[in-house]
Parts: sequence; C-alpha cells; structure tokens
Amino acid sequence: MRAFSYHRPDSVDAALRGVAGQSGTTTEAAVKFVAGGTNLLDLMKADVMRPERLVDISRLGLDRIEETADGGLRLGALARNADTAHDERVQARYPMLSKAILAGASAQLRNMATNGGNLLQRTRCYYFYDTGTPCNKREPGTGCGALTGVNRIHAILGASDRCIAVHPSDMCVALAALEAVVRVSGPRGERTIPFADFHRLPGDTPHIDSNLAADELITAIDLPAEGFADHSTYLKVRDRASYAFALVSVAAALEMDGQTVRTARLALGGVAHKPWRDPAAEAELAGRPASLESFRKAARVLLRDARGQSHNAFKIGLAERAIVRALAEAAGVEHP
Ligand code: SF4
Repeated sequence: MRAFSYHRPDSVDAALRGVAGQSGTTTEAAVKFVAGGTNLLDLMKADVMRPERLVDISRLGLDRIEETADGGLRLGALARNADTAHDERVQARYPMLSKAILAGASAQLRNMATNGGNLLQRTRCYYFYDTGTPCNKREPGTGCGALTGVNRIHAILGASDRCIAVHPSDMCVALAALEAVVRVSGPRGERTIPFADFHRLPGDTPHIDSNLAADELITAIDLPAEGFADHSTYLKVRDRASYAFALVSVAAALEMDGQTVRTARLALGGVAHKPWRDPAAEAELAGRPASLESFRKAARVLLRDARGQSHNAFKIGLAERAIVRALAEAAGVEHP
C-alpha cells in the first residue's frame, strides 16, 4: 500500500474543506472520503486506487434514520448497512430494500459498510483488481481485459466496447426500484440526485462510476413514501448461497388492483454498469393481469437489447427466468 495522509474532521463543513478545490468526479479524486472502508481499503492494498489523502467521515453524525415530511424515510449516509436492514421502519415499509441489503456481502461487512459507501463501491471485475492486466476503468486507455478474457460475471445490457463491468451492489438495485433520491453537500450548497441519475453507464469514460463531484459528500438517501410493502421482493441469483455477488438480481415492486397490475417497477442487478431499469418493460405490465404470461412478455421487452459476451450469454435466459419469478413472488402468483 502506498503512503497517504489521513485527516478526521468532526463536521460536514470541515470534511468538505478537506476535499475543496478538486474538480471532476469523485471516482477521479486524489483526496477521498472514507467511512467503513470495506471496499476502498481493499482497493488501496491491491494498488488499484491510490488516493494521496483520506478524509475520515465516520464521526460526522450522519448515521440516523429519520422520518421525512412527505411520509418517507431518510437514511443517513453513515448509517451502517446492517442497522438500515434491521430498522423496524425499513423492514415494515420497505421490505424489498431490507431483503436486498441482507442479500449482500457478509454480516461482518454489513456491520461496517455504510449506506453512502454502498453507492460508491466499485466493480468486482477480476481485471480491475489485477494491476498486471489492461483495464480502462483502472487505467484509461489501456484496453479491457474482460472483453477477450473471462467474462462470465459481466454485463449483458448497457455495456460499451471500452468496458463490460457490472455494478456490484444489491442495495442500489432496490433503491433504483424505489426511486430513492441521493442528498449531497458541496461547496455549491446542497443538491439532490434522482437515483437513476447517480450511476453512469461506461460509454467512453468507464473510469467514472457516478455523477458525484469530487468535492461533494453524500449526506443521506431519501426513500419516498411509497415502499410497495404489500407487493415487492428482491431475488438474487448467485453461485453460492452467501457472500457472493449477483449473477442476476431483480427488485420487483407492484401496485395491484385485485389480480391486475396497476403499476410496476423492475430493477436488475448484475447485468449492467448501473442498476438497470426499463420504462418500456414496466409499461408493458401496467393494466395487465398478474400472470406468468404477462411477466414473461415484460421480461422479453426488458431484455430485447441484451447481448452476451463469450462466457455470459447464459445470463440472458437466467435474467428472464429471474424476472418472471420475482414478479410472481411480488404479485403472490404461484410459480412452478
Ligand atoms: Fe476494466 Fe471494465 Fe474491462 Fe473490467 S470490464 S477489465 S473493469 S474496462
């Protein structure tokens, strides 16, 4: 691990002063915030990320989970993943989110990892972690080892010829389906980022993961009042029963009118560089009977542009089956 300086401020303003003057996005920044450190420190030890300075934000007090005026919940950026998943209000009103968080990592990691950090964790592409191989995300312009290498865990949607990595989070998939809002503080004041606009697709700049600026701090994540508690689920398909990243995951949330779907939200994990939503697939479900046939049609719409790499074409069929199963579970429809 390379030498770095360390600073532990005790207020948001002091933390922001610690990263002041940096331009670009947080992924490119030389000065980084650290809280749980469950991903950043691994990346530093592997020499994949080389920050010159760490600003430890663990004592800023942003760890509360509070009611919002519009009937939603505000998840503090520094609330631990485990505390969030086990919060009674989250469990009762946003069970899909609780389930998604508990599907991720291990109990030890969830006890350390924070909500803000979960959004900023980086891909688990093997080549990204292996500094002896080319990787446009780690070293822009060097190439993509996964395109011609082992790409079983990689993207089937939204990839580019520069990068086919996927976002590793489970929590973010549920947050995308819930249409959460990310609250951010910076030198230009406070702003909110709709969850769909927080992460980026790789395009020509795969080294940039999100639209968070280098001098900004995530302070909270707001959940809207509608939590789809009656008809939602999170389904994760992975190689092992625990402590494995998703090959495919599905957050499915429905508003039902008897046996008819009134509105639907579908977000997929493990398939793209960001949690994947598709308005056309959700529109396909609206007003349809809650049946396996409708769910299959919606899955096919969502996957119409899916493209497999040399080792991961199996994900397309897997995703279709996972979507149907998750929707059936959310709707209470029997699934073979
Ligand atoms: Fe790097 Fe992305 Fe290619 Fe993986 S898929 S090697 S992260 S450029």
